[in-house]
Amino acid sequence: MAKKKVKVIKINADECNGCRACEAFCAAFHADPQYSSVNPARARIRVIHDPIRNVFLPVLAGPHTEVECMARDKYIIDGKEYNECAFCRATACPSREEFKDPDSGLPLKCDACETEPPLEEPICVKVCLVDALTYEEREEEAEEAEKLDELEVGLESLVDKYGMDKVMDTLARITISKKG
Ligand code: SF4
Ligand code: SF4
Repeated sequence: MAKKKVKVIKINADECNGCRACEAFCAAFHADPQYSSVNPARARIRVIHDPIRNVFLPVLAGPHTEVECMARDKYIIDGKEYNECAFCRATACPSREEFKDPDSGLPLKCDACETEPPLEEPICVKVCLVDALTYEEREEEAEEAEKLDELEVGLESLVDKYGMDKVMDTLARITISKKG
């Protein structure tokens, strides 16, 4: 069975001191050209701060969404109530400004600093001197069934959007052009 690499950034909020080096270096690493600017609004990591308890919690930008959740979440931790959706990882959600490029509005998703040649560890982990962020990799068996599920979900959404006939026509056209 095929293997897939799972990359994990472990976040130990107890160790985070709020230096925001992770935000700054993530933004600089992803600037174009690389390291040409440092704008934390372009970082794919955001450090939430509770000023009363002086608690910092890093959150990595996750999957892209174009629609808001039907329900908002609100966390209460140690009696402190955080803003709605404060810890959500979704990028480009219409209800929030987080994880959107400040100029283009495009979603900013953590890409684990994938580059060629690959880094030993992501930039935010490298610059976190107190090990609030640590990195692990592991291999897992890739589930064929999972891929099929994803394919089914994708096809269903195309059928919902364009109708079965249009999707079938397009598939037939692609099949003919691939064979040709
Ligand atoms: S670099 Fe580490 S300590 Fe500094 S804000 Fe980021 S996670 Fe926290
Ligand atoms: S892993 Fe890379 S892209 Fe993701 S938050 Fe850290 S520095 Fe940014």
